[in-house]
Amino acid sequence: ARKERLVVVSNRLPFILAKGEDGEWRITPGAGGLVTALLPVLRDRGGVWIGWPGAHANVEEVRHAFTSSEAGYTLVPVVLTPEEVHKFYQGFSNEIIWPLFHDLQSHCNFDPSYWRVYQEVNRKFARAVLDESQPGDFIWVHDYQLINVAAELRGRGVSSRIGFFLHTPFPSLDIYLKLPWRFQLLRALLEYDVIGFQTLRDRRNFIQCVRALVKDAGIHGKGQVMLARMNGREVRLGVFPISIDYDAYAREAGSPAIAEKGAQLRQLLPNRQLILGVDRLDYTKAIPDRLEAFGAALARYPELHQRVTLIQVVVPSREDIPRYHELRTRIEQIVGRINGRFTQPGGWVPIHYVFQNLSRKELIAYYRAAQIALVTPLKDGMNLVAKEYCACSTDEDSVLILSEFAGAAAQLQHWALLVNPYDIEGTAEAIVAAFRMPLDERRWRMRRMRRSIRTYDVFWWVDAFLRAAIEKDLSAFPLM
Ligand code: UDP
Repeated sequence: ARKERLVVVSNRLPFILAKGEDGEWRITPGAGGLVTALLPVLRDRGGVWIGWPGAHANVEEVRHAFTSSEAGYTLVPVVLTPEEVHKFYQGFSNEIIWPLFHDLQSHCNFDPSYWRVYQEVNRKFARAVLDESQPGDFIWVHDYQLINVAAELRGRGVSSRIGFFLHTPFPSLDIYLKLPWRFQLLRALLEYDVIGFQTLRDRRNFIQCVRALVKDAGIHGKGQVMLARMNGREVRLGVFPISIDYDAYAREAGSPAIAEKGAQLRQLLPNRQLILGVDRLDYTKAIPDRLEAFGAALARYPELHQRVTLIQVVVPSREDIPRYHELRTRIEQIVGRINGRFTQPGGWVPIHYVFQNLSRKELIAYYRAAQIALVTPLKDGMNLVAKEYCACSTDEDSVLILSEFAGAAAQLQHWALLVNPYDIEGTAEAIVAAFRMPLDERRWRMRRMRRSIRTYDVFWWVDAFLRAAIEKDLSAFPLM
């Protein structure tokens, strides 16, 4: 049978737009796992990827770059005005849904004009989908910026199958209830044919919200197969933990170039264990709490002095939102305080702080060189850094300290050292436990994590979602 074409819709197009030396705009594919996994599917089935190209260029210049893109599928830019970027993207998406869905309701700015513009921009995306899609296409919408797209499409008579994947967590009822537009968003979600969540916990929260707030919906099924039924329609609710291109990371980490870079790093910091943190600048990542935990471990356990170095990489992000800017200042103050307290002149500096976007090679070299990773978000949809770290631990002698509130914990809980990131002393204890962990224990834990991530990689994830969405087959997945 002919395969359905795929229409992917995401806030950002997965391409980097840059002006060449000749002044022409050019695009190159992004390096994320989602792109890597979806491009082959798009080439195979044919289709389009619709998204915002970023705030770089005027419409006409951008269009030129996109029409000259690779064959087999099309990229369609949805251009946003500065006001739309402000109120839809920074505002509703990143000052309301993002904090609320990460359980940080006190960080929300419930500005009513944000909701208006969110609806308008979702309509704009829906119009682009309408222009680009044909009956029978499968439309796959991604993430919290675009919840209303299906509802807008249904309102325009589209009956194609539409799927949604939520990359963030879904909050519990008590928190979700705070949202002034709680009924509208929930009903908008129920316009999809299939909704994918990262973990069982997220789906359970969603179901609890539907039960409490949507009286005409019924929830049916159990295990992997759950349905919401309303007005004779069925919405499939599945759990699909997103992942990475495991083989690509493992291969690159094992390459001679990276081995050499990693060895250089270890040589620069001899006779000590490297502890690594890599996070986008975001308050959900709990970077200040983690630094405090590291400081507490140093204060409590002098055996760590000169024997560990924390490399904390912070990737610049969303700095035009005031909270993010404040966070950066706070992190830098804490780094300064801890280094001021423990640094030994001419020798050991406990925290190496890197505020940069790393190249893929540098990142992989850090992953490979570090004996311990600290991945301790307050809450995270999945957390790919945790999975990338394991994939790159080709020597299988390193330890992952992981927040129990990261989606990845559902999959890795038996083998990572789990911590409650709010618990500074508990996290400090985990740091010293990781430091002391014998080699054979490190090995069996890391082996099992790597095996799980290798089995459930991003290609599995795409395949599992599409099978559930298109072939209506929800049965074949593990319940993690
Ligand atoms: N990453 C990056 N630049 C860097 C360091 C890391 O793009 O300098 C990538 C990293 O490889 C990972 C992603 O950023 O794939 C972060 O994903 P994660 O799920 O951990 O958190 P998010 O930032 O999506 O909340």
